[in-house]
Amino acid sequence: MEKKNIDWSSLDFGYRPTEARYVANYKNGAWDEGEMTDNSMITMSECAGVLQYAQTVFEGMKAYTTVDGRTVVFRPDLNAKRFEDSAKTLEMPPFPQDRFIKSIEDVVRANWAYVPPYGSGATLYIRPYMFGISPVIGVKPAEEYQYRVFVTPVGPYFKGGAKPITIRVCDYDRAAPHGTGMIKAGLNYAMSLRAIVSAHKEGYDENMFLDAATRTYVEETGGANFIFITKDGSTLVTPKSDSILPSVTRRSLMVVAEKYLGMKVEHRKVRFDEVKDFAECGLCGTAAVISPVGRIVDHGKEINFPSGMEKMGPVIQKLYDTLTGIQMGTVEPPEGWLHEIKM
Ligand SMILES: *Cc1c(COP(=O)(O)O)cnc(C)c1O
Repeated sequence: MEKKNIDWSSLDFGYRPTEARYVANYKNGAWDEGEMTDNSMITMSECAGVLQYAQTVFEGMKAYTTVDGRTVVFRPDLNAKRFEDSAKTLEMPPFPQDRFIKSIEDVVRANWAYVPPYGSGATLYIRPYMFGISPVIGVKPAEEYQYRVFVTPVGPYFKGGAKPITIRVCDYDRAAPHGTGMIKAGLNYAMSLRAIVSAHKEGYDENMFLDAATRTYVEETGGANFIFITKDGSTLVTPKSDSILPSVTRRSLMVVAEKYLGMKVEHRKVRFDEVKDFAECGLCGTAAVISPVGRIVDHGKEINFPSGMEKMGPVIQKLYDTLTGIQMGTVEPPEGWLHEIKM
């Protein structure tokens, strides 16, 4: 199929509706068979569960073209599983994992012309989500739900190379112990908005959230997990906590570090007061893969990583190159990591 005439490399990370999306409905205790639709609008009760009590969860993935011209999605099985975990936590009926994968394939196929070509740096962002659609006024789970998948082409995350960012230690909390920090739910993002708006106002790119109970341990940012590299370059350290969202990118980087780069990996609680002793720091998520962090500011006290503010540190650069090489088909992937979609 002819690709759309889009200037792929100048696209930003914004919503640009395409022709086709998928929708399925849950009613009377069962999911219907679902269908593709060209209608990007949703009509629902003014009292829908999602509108009144924020009963909604989502996922984020990318489809893109590999060096040898295949259209692939990176490890969507992990997103399918996480989506199920998220739904269950908010008392929503899980959307079957095999149907999650199939719906993604169908939407990518229906929007084939929007999958950016190899080398453009752009990708087709995939957004599956589910929400309570029936009326709810007394607080309880909705009875009816809608599951949808849309896609939108997005440009390269870093135009002209990834520059290290400056983040601050945040006085707001992202997630409570035993709360919902480990699921991908809109509610976690709603409450992070005040923190990110005030960070930007004060000149920081992102927030580092600490554990809400003791403010001693590193959690994550609003939408990315942390990785740290030790001074001798031998070890990747990444925070462990029940209130961190399990990033697919971070879990993949742990494998890359160990299996491809021969590094040690420590997935453990990380005290904030150890952070100054690391050589490199990065944020990982689907959108950017890794954003290097050059500086962390804790109420006026600065941690400046030896990797500096000009470019990624050497180990994070290697991790980045290897993972993006795996994704793009220039480095041999572990079994099952690239999910090919055939027209
Ligand atoms: C989505 C998300 C991430 C990144 O996860 P990936 O699966 O790597 O995209 C990290 N933290 C939070 C809070 C998220 O919502």
